[in-house]
Amino acid sequence: MTRQISAKTVVAGVAGQPVAHSLSPLLHNAWLEAAGIDGVYVAFAPPADNFREFAQGLRGGAIRGINVTLPFKEAALSISRRATPRAEAAEAANLLLFEPDGTITADNTDGLGLLAAFALQAPGFDPKAGPVVILGAGGAARGAAAAFKLAGAPEVRIVNRTQAKAEFVAGALGEVGRAFPLDQAVAALQGAQAVVNATSAGLTNGGRLEIPLSATPEAAVIMDMVYTPLVTPFLAEAQALGRKTVDGLGMLVGQARPSFEAFFGRAPPDGVDVRALALKALGAAG
Ligand code: NAP
Repeated sequence: MTRQISAKTVVAGVAGQPVAHSLSPLLHNAWLEAAGIDGVYVAFAPPADNFREFAQGLRGGAIRGINVTLPFKEAALSISRRATPRAEAAEAANLLLFEPDGTITADNTDGLGLLAAFALQAPGFDPKAGPVVILGAGGAARGAAAAFKLAGAPEVRIVNRTQAKAEFVAGALGEVGRAFPLDQAVAALQGAQAVVNATSAGLTNGGRLEIPLSATPEAAVIMDMVYTPLVTPFLAEAQALGRKTVDGLGMLVGQARPSFEAFFGRAPPDGVDVRALALKALGAAG
């Protein structure tokens, strides 16, 4: 890639800890290059306990904005002066914009990404058609629950290891929210038209998630937010049961699109197969 960096280059990026594994620079820079935009997207790894100071240093025109990933999504919302309703509903932000006057605006495009992934990989899925189940009660789960609620889901069931957190998240959803402890997952799965794994179980720091997916209706769509590997043990089990699945990479690309538009003022260009690029980087191509 030989892209010009000029005196007008717009800088955006992603902040996480760790961040070296992030695919966001790959996606955004491919779009920038294809669109011929004078911009660059870089990765930052601020100290885990120092996000506020880090973000303050980016204000006032230093850079246009950042995506925010683990463990900074809640801190990102708390330092912003303005927040979109979807960031407030998720109580977390994955996008900060730094306005020239010093204002920090927070948004959350994870829910948009989630729904985009369903639209692409499970066409015909209608959030309004029945209950959906979210496994987990962290920032990602809150974002997913808020997105399904805003999309008209009649019931959003939150299943979490720590029941108090499930109750808190379900409570914030009002009438459509219901909480279940992990050991009552079978009851939550009855009649569910979608199940989304929004836990970090199965990542290097967590154990495997044991969920009886056979309790879901045959037409249920099963999604995992985790995309390393692309077909997680959770999705593999769903596929073995004959269920339709949606992967976390679809969500990552789906949240990146509105982020790109917020940073660079136009939608990503057509014709760039960022999913293929990401799969290649993950070593899962072919
Ligand atoms: P988080 O705030 O740390 O929440 C983690 C959740 O996982 C909590 O509900 C926790 O339960 C649960 N959990 C962890 N280990 C578990 C285990 N062994 N058994 C059962 N439950 C367990 O994390 P987050 O920000 O919500 O992110 C969750 C996942 O979504 C991460 O893997 C993240 O990478 C992924 N994600 C993907 C995308 C994408 O674009 N594809 C976007 C956002 C997030 P407790 O409450 O009981 O601790």
